Parts: sequence; C-alpha cells; structure tokens
Amino acid sequence: MIPCIFDITAKRAELAGSDIALEEVASGRTVTYAGLDERAARAAGLLLSLGIGAGDRVAILCRNRIEFFELLFACAKMGAILVPLNWRMPAAEIRPLLADCTPGLLIFGEDDAGVAAELAADVPALLGLDVGYVDQRDQSPCHPGRRQWPADGIWYLLYTSGTTGKPKAVIYTFTMAMVNYINISQPIGLTGRDTTLNFLPLFHTAGINLHTLPTLIVGGRVLIMPGFDADVMLDLVAAGRIDAMFGVPAVYQMLAMHPRFASVDLTRLRSWGCGGAPLPDLLVQRFLERGVRVCNGMGMTETGPTAFIMDPNRVAEKIGSVGKPQVLAGIRIVGPDGLDVEPGQAGELWFGGPGITPGYWNRPDATAAAFSADGWLKSGDLARCDADGFYYIVGRIKEMFISGGENVYPAEVENVLAQHPAILEAAVIGIPDEKWGEVGQAHILLRPGQTLPSTEDLTRYCRERLAPFKVPKRFVAVADFPRTAAGKVQKHRL
Ligand code: ATP
Repeated sequence: MIPCIFDITAKRAELAGSDIALEEVASGRTVTYAGLDERAARAAGLLLSLGIGAGDRVAILCRNRIEFFELLFACAKMGAILVPLNWRMPAAEIRPLLADCTPGLLIFGEDDAGVAAELAADVPALLGLDVGYVDQRDQSPCHPGRRQWPADGIWYLLYTSGTTGKPKAVIYTFTMAMVNYINISQPIGLTGRDTTLNFLPLFHTAGINLHTLPTLIVGGRVLIMPGFDADVMLDLVAAGRIDAMFGVPAVYQMLAMHPRFASVDLTRLRSWGCGGAPLPDLLVQRFLERGVRVCNGMGMTETGPTAFIMDPNRVAEKIGSVGKPQVLAGIRIVGPDGLDVEPGQAGELWFGGPGITPGYWNRPDATAAAFSADGWLKSGDLARCDADGFYYIVGRIKEMFISGGENVYPAEVENVLAQHPAILEAAVIGIPDEKWGEVGQAHILLRPGQTLPSTEDLTRYCRERLAPFKVPKRFVAVADFPRTAAGKVQKHRL
C-alpha cells in the first residue's frame, strides 16, 4: 500500500506553475497550475472558516466549470470529502442523498440555484458559486494544506448512476486517482503536452476521471465544456486543439449523425476512448471508415472507473471487445459455483486490485453484498475472454431473462437490432409470456425520417442473425429512452 501521495496541485505549481491547467471553452476563462493551487488553498481556507473540518462532507451541485476542480482540490488539501450531485435530479430525488451523506455545506452554481433553494432546509448551510464565492475565496487565508494525503483517505463520493434503481455512494480514495492515472495515461500515451476534453457531467466518474484527473496529474491542459456539443467539439477537432477524449456511446452516435462528420479531419484527435455502455459494432465501423479507431473500454463507478481498454492497433480486428485488462486491474470470470470458468466460457466478471473502491459510504450491507469473501468486486456483468486474451461483455446478469429455458442477454439482441438501417438504438427487456415464461420486447428508437418496419420484417431480420429464442416477440417504437446522465438507458423504467 502506498503510505501517502503528494498534493497534486502544489506539486504541479512547483514543476510548471505557469502552464494552463484548465480552460473553459465557452467563456475562454483559464487557470494556470499555480493559480489552481492558490485558489484551491484559499477555497480550503474558506471551507475551514465555514466550519467544515477534515472528514466532513461538502455537497456540490454545479455544471462543468473551473470552480468545481478548485473545490475538489480544496477538499483534498483540508481533508473534506466532496460529494458531486446530479443536477438533472429534482430536489425530491436529491433529498435522500443528502440524508445519506449529511454534508455540512451545499455549494451550488447559478443554473441550479432553484433546486438548491428547495434544499435549504436539508443542509446546515448553502454557498453560491456565482453569489460572492470568488470574493470570499480570494479574501480567505491561503490554507497551506497537508501537502501529503494518506493514500487510503477518502477524497470524494459518487452516487452510482442508477441503471438498476437505488443509488449508493461509491467511495473514491487518493490511491484510486493514482491507479486510474496509471491505467489511463499508459495506454493512451498521455503526457504534459496533451490537451484533453471534459464534457461529461462531473457527478459521474467519467466526468472527473476520463481524462480530466489524469491530465491534471501529468500536467496537461483540460478544455472544459458545460456539456457535450458536437458542433463545438468538431470545431476543436478541426483546429487540432484536442489530443485525447473519452465519450459514452451516445456521444459517438451524435458525432456520427452530425452533418460535418464526413468532412472534418477526425484524425487530428489522436486518442478516442469510449465506455460506460455497450458500443454498437456498426458505430465502430463508421468511425473506422473515417480513419478513427474508437477504443472501447469497460469498468464501473466502483472500479474507479476503467478496468479494460482496447489497444488502438487491434480495434478493427476485435470489434465488439472491450480490450484487455489494464495494467493495475485484476480480473476474474467466475461461474455460479464461485470458481473461475473454463477458458472461453462466459461467467460473472469480478474485479480486484488497488483501483477498486473500498466500498459504499455508510452502507456496510451494500458493500458486503458487492464483494466476495476474499475481497473481489462482483460486477453483475457477464463476460468471456477469447483465445487472444480479449474480453467481451456478454450482458448483465440482472438484465438477463429466460425464454423457454434459454438465457437471453439483451445486449446481444440490441447490437443486432442497431445494425438495421431504420434503427438508431434498441433496448430489449424480458416480459412475462404464458408459453415461454418470458419473451423479449424490443423498444426501438428510429433513425430520423424512418418508420417502424413491420413485426414480420423485424422478426425475419433478427432470425437471420440470432437463435429463435433470442428474437423479440414485440417491437415498440419510442420517441426516446429514459436515460442516466451518462446516456445509458434506464431499463427498469421501460
Ligand atoms: P447502477 O450501479 O446503479 O446499476 P450503473 O451500473 O449503470 O448503475 P455505472 O457504474 O455507471 O453504473 O456503470 C457500470 C456498468 O456499465 C457496468 O457494470 C457495465 O454493465 C456497463 N458498461 C460499462 N462499460 C461498458 C462497455 N464498454 N460495454 C458494455 N457495458 C459496459
């Protein structure tokens, strides 16, 4: 175990303090590493003056902006625990989360002032980022910080995105940030000369960790966008301003549908990472045709976040794979008997190693349920490994349904449907059926201008590509899917 880790912003300020750390694309605001370190130190002083001490939680409800990161590093300096909250949630959904993590303060941005006001009675104090925060921060004494962090100290908490319902706060330690830095920077060749793009929401692990924290640890520059905007991103790519990015499949879908997808030179952006949900094969092919190798990766909030990543040189050959385990990720594929499966067989994916969360905040029951007796995190995902050591996510145990005694993994059926010319995206669930026990019902999002093909046509299309028991019995067109902030379909709400 690493005994301590040095203060990242202080270290970066010493090494190359005048380099730009963060740049907001829309406003043009920037902050250097020296500036970020000083702001974090003053913000730490401000938090202390507001009665926040080491170990106390500080909730934050704001869009992607520089102040989020100065507060993240401020918490690190004085030992408080930051809790980013999902600004897509109404006050009623946030309230139980506040009751769970009991923050001493709720910090909010202007865009979320209304929800923050509704939550005023649920927290001891409120602090508005756009109402006096900057002045208060700048007048606060520069808190020199601890300079060293205990490696297993808690830095921040992230409520999981909720594709399966009840949210739990995943604990993030300083070690997890360092492990993620090694796991990410090594395969994508990240250096201090690189610029990465931040647009995923900061209450999601990808917003913080892919690739923002690794970039700030290595001394590169992060461009911050308040949210994903294909136009803005394509401008940045065309201008050669981004070296590496990470997006969820929905982001790649939006890029592929953009009118400028075919004309912008996408190869000016070196490293294209994807993960968080199944990546349709067709999408990988569309990007390959444009000279881009989209590297699928896989992990969970609990794995801090990535555990697998695809080698760009093998993308075309291994479409559908999430790659190989990262350097510091421990992986097992386990059968129902708790033993490792035979090579090539599917089983539950278990994770181990120093990048995995120690557990959930305040939830020893949920932590005990998530880990095996010998400390492996049980993902609930089904995976298999091919003869070359490449891994494939077959489906999720909790989404699997049984039709006529056969297991059906919706991910496989969805991937086939997504290759139909009329279909943009599909989500399959099991519904009760008198004859088969359960049968598939496909919810279909059509491509613009398309109409739902007949059930006979879709059945024939699926039968040519899937075993009969996997073919959905019902096909329903939807205007959109209920989604998590990361763009994942919330199947329990279908
Ligand atoms: P909850 O924990 O509330 O169920 P969630 O599982 O969606 O929400 P995350 O931690 O954001 O929370 O997502 C992790 C899950 O996303 C993985 O367990 C896996 O099912 C899925 N996933 C992530 N990356 C990939 C990928 N590349 N391909 C397929 N599935 C993926």
